Amino acid sequence: MPLVTMRQLLDEAARGGYGVGAFNVNNLEQVQAIMEAARETGSPVIIQASRGARKYANDRFLYHLMEAATEVYPEIPVALHQDHGNSPETCESAIELGFTSVMMDGSLMEDAKTPADFEYNVRVTREVVEMAHERGVTVEGELGTLGGIEDDVGSGEVHLTEPDQAVEFVERTGVDALAVAIGTSHGAYKFTKEPDREVLAMHIIEEINRRLPTTHLVMHGSSSVPRELVDLINRYGGEIRPTWGVPVREIQEGIKYGVRKINVDTDLRLAATGAIRRAFAEDPSEYDPRYYLTPAREAMKGIVKARMEEFGQAGHAGNYEPISLGDMAVRYREKGHLLTTT
Ligand SMILES: [Zn+2]
Repeated sequence: MPLVTMRQLLDEAARGGYGVGAFNVNNLEQVQAIMEAARETGSPVIIQASRGARKYANDRFLYHLMEAATEVYPEIPVALHQDHGNSPETCESAIELGFTSVMMDGSLMEDAKTPADFEYNVRVTREVVEMAHERGVTVEGELGTLGGIEDDVGSGEVHLTEPDQAVEFVERTGVDALAVAIGTSHGAYKFTKEPDREVLAMHIIEEINRRLPTTHLVMHGSSSVPRELVDLINRYGGEIRPTWGVPVREIQEGIKYGVRKINVDTDLRLAATGAIRRAFAEDPSEYDPRYYLTPAREAMKGIVKARMEEFGQAGHAGNYEPISLGDMAVRYREKGHLLTTT
């Protein structure tokens, strides 16, 4: 199966009432772990690469890893998504590389640090929508900014998404999916205690979904930071401070209210690090990287499988035929940017 668009995956998820995990990659073992988890659970999946990942792996390596994934796992629908594009140029280069979906994060300026104003965000996002939809490629925008403790991405300031602005933003830009800020943050250190309904502003999701029922909502920074993974790392010499992530039950609540894409990165990093630390400790005489990368890949696969089951995407891989980029482009041309999902 060729790469499919994220729009199609999310439309199908909306029809089926489930969410789709979007997992970050920058190397071979991560791609393999995610694809194997998708096969074992029969799941459609979104694989995403940040600018940092594209730089680390090199664009050509990354693209061919994904091409290999579609060859080796032909039964799995996969969307390849640019995570946090900082400019229309970044998004365009991703599209030229073969990505089927891009995020234009205009909530921040091009430096990916300074909060941007609403008009800037509308302008750059609209520009990307025009360019991407012409080629059938999906666009995710972001309104509001993520923040939190020890946040290495973004401004560090929390600006929760305002529902009124969300409606205006979607109408003026024509985005397929909207990342909303509800109090989560990137990285392992999200909350200093278990987040409750006020810390995690789930009511914002409910409100936006009520007013934009056909817009797919996206939760960023949605790793759950499982206690056992943190404990494993620390047991073998790590120093992760006590921390809380986003409870899976809150994500499941969000899925009831239109959350269709859930970004998970930190949990895979924790799983890999724990497995590698344990392997190093258990046999310090080993020096073959496969000795520690194999359990790291297994651990990542385990967490991805669990999330696929929990988000509800498991079992839905075979539900539909892929729509080509060309056909998607025709749909946008004929029906306008805001396709309905019904
Ligand atoms: Zn993000």
